[in-house]
Amino acid sequence: MPREYTYGPFQSRRLGLSLGIDILTKKKTCTYDCVYCEIGSTILLVPPTYEIKNPPSLHYRNEIKEMMRLFPNLDSITFGYNGEPTLNPYLGEFYRITSEESSEVKWNEKEPYISLFTNSSTVYLEEVRDRIKVFDYVLAKLDVASDDDFITTNRPHEKVPSINIIIESLSKLRSLMSQKKFDLQCLIYNSYRKDFNSNNNETNIINLGNAIKKIKPDAVQIYSIARIPSEYFVYSINDQQKKSIVKTLKEIVNNEAIEINYY
Ligand code: SF4
Repeated sequence: MPREYTYGPFQSRRLGLSLGIDILTKKKTCTYDCVYCEIGSTILLVPPTYEIKNPPSLHYRNEIKEMMRLFPNLDSITFGYNGEPTLNPYLGEFYRITSEESSEVKWNEKEPYISLFTNSSTVYLEEVRDRIKVFDYVLAKLDVASDDDFITTNRPHEKVPSINIIIESLSKLRSLMSQKKFDLQCLIYNSYRKDFNSNNNETNIINLGNAIKKIKPDAVQIYSIARIPSEYFVYSINDQQKKSIVKTLKEIVNNEAIEINYY
């Protein structure tokens, strides 16, 4: 059977054995054009209200069913490795079919999480929060906590709201998901260019700490560039730097219930 929607599964440090689901177009469409993006420059930079109207075809149910039966040891079925999945208004429909099929499978151990990566640019929209809140596990991007860093690092479409609105919206989404797993992912990087303010600057780390305190996720994942970035002038921070960022964030957040780790 040709595979239209799924890829992998592959072993992920954060998710375990994860089957990827792609519900977007093949052309990279995103609300951001992050300097460090590992899938290349954004071809179509779109506003957060843009819709990629790709409903699940009949093939989706069969494909997901077959993959679940082939891999009864999955830990996660994960939407959103390529671009921003919340741009597809049929995300809820994809979730429903996945969940229905998953409940029919005899899993080796526990049923896998149905997880979602989001870049957080659309969560200010109530209908998007409603579509997301049903997922078992949400991993939301937050690399910056000031508009200057936001523009430099994530290079959002001009219609993406301010970072403060995004932080407020993540906090609302988190309250809607108090019984689910909700993590923040912060990609921190450095730059060779002296005239470029990479997001490992001290002010950004302090601002991020205050944002984490407000959002109260279950966990924060600090990580860095692992593949070829979109721009030549950015590069990965090392483990020592990640460790020091984790220490600073823990001091600011000062809440044992929020796990902060680096990967
Ligand atoms: S949000 Fe993700 S897919 Fe979009 S540009 Fe940034 S890293 Fe790439």
